[in-house]
Amino acid sequence: HRHTATRSITASKLTVELKTDDTAFKNQPKKEDLAFGQTISDHMLMVPWSVENQWGDPKIVPYEDLKISPAASCLHYGLQCFEGMKAYKALDDPNSLHLFRPHKNMERLTGSMERLSMPGADFDNGELVKLIEELVKVDQKWIPRGEGYSLYIRPTVIATHRFLGMAPPIDLLLFVITSPVGPYYKTGFKPIRLTCDTPFVRAWPGGTGNSKVGGNYGPTMKAQADAAARRYSQVLWLFGDKEVVTEVGAMNVFFLIQNKETNLPELITPPLTSGDILPGVTRDSIIALAETWDDLTVVEWAPTIHEIKEAAEEGRLLEAFGAGTAAVVTPIDCIEYKGQDINVPADGKLTQRIWDAVTGIQYGRREGPEGWCH
Ligand code: PMP
Repeated sequence: HRHTATRSITASKLTVELKTDDTAFKNQPKKEDLAFGQTISDHMLMVPWSVENQWGDPKIVPYEDLKISPAASCLHYGLQCFEGMKAYKALDDPNSLHLFRPHKNMERLTGSMERLSMPGADFDNGELVKLIEELVKVDQKWIPRGEGYSLYIRPTVIATHRFLGMAPPIDLLLFVITSPVGPYYKTGFKPIRLTCDTPFVRAWPGGTGNSKVGGNYGPTMKAQADAAARRYSQVLWLFGDKEVVTEVGAMNVFFLIQNKETNLPELITPPLTSGDILPGVTRDSIIALAETWDDLTVVEWAPTIHEIKEAAEEGRLLEAFGAGTAAVVTPIDCIEYKGQDINVPADGKLTQRIWDAVTGIQYGRREGPEGWCH
């Protein structure tokens, strides 16, 4: 049967083994002291894939260390991809748990798997969403109540194939762990200072910038550390001889610029066509929401840093912000280019409006488009 049956991920085959000891839960930091990514909740979801059995039965088990071969190809060739998403507790009803557009993350995950030539990427995305729902339910007590608190969810696929040759893997492990997180901004927005002055490039056409593979992130640490040592919080990544703006740190980037000819405000973000931009779920959501607002136009266009500088000098650069799951939106304060800071106006009315719209849907304060609040 092995050559005919493609066994997809099947949520109805889930088994759950609950943790009996609550030491980790009792010893977790107070919610005010939660730091991003440090606390891991009690359970994890695991789904193995093998060439003989395809996708195996999913299980939720107590969180524990993995045992894999030192020859596993994820440890050598970057055969790893992941996702970042969140679960929220409705502010008015702590029994109501929300995911924000989870199918978008599943689509991106299978896209990343395909980019790495991982087999099994054709599983039914809806089944994995159901399994993540179960995981969130099992660990819902870990989600602190209140505005800004959430459970960060980290779906990950690694090649566990014990093989030092370079080949598409015959064994994979899909696992999902979760981590309670607190509000990114405790006392209002904290605008960030960016620098373009790095010799490094994040992504390029034909590379993997539009996939969420671990290999994209390790090489950015050096640029990030160099920027931090010079008191810039993140790198604004440019690409090519024209120095086109692509992304900021690990976020998509948006600019509100007054059009030179029409004088009308345009919300500008680089398009996904060049293959070097991660298709952010936040990015997509901001575009969709802003397209329904009639006081501005959304333009998917990649400005060069020179065009940004010119707009700033002419007083047409109105706002700039990064966008991603972790912080939703992060206002930009200034951009260093060739040793000089380009200042960005700080009033941030649109940034705030987008924040209110997106977090409103996530926490159930506002009605969003069909299916966004899952
Ligand atoms: N760009 C990069 C490089 C990222 O790592 C992320 C975070 N996943 C984003 C953009 C934002 O994506 P999302 O809105 O889906 O979190």
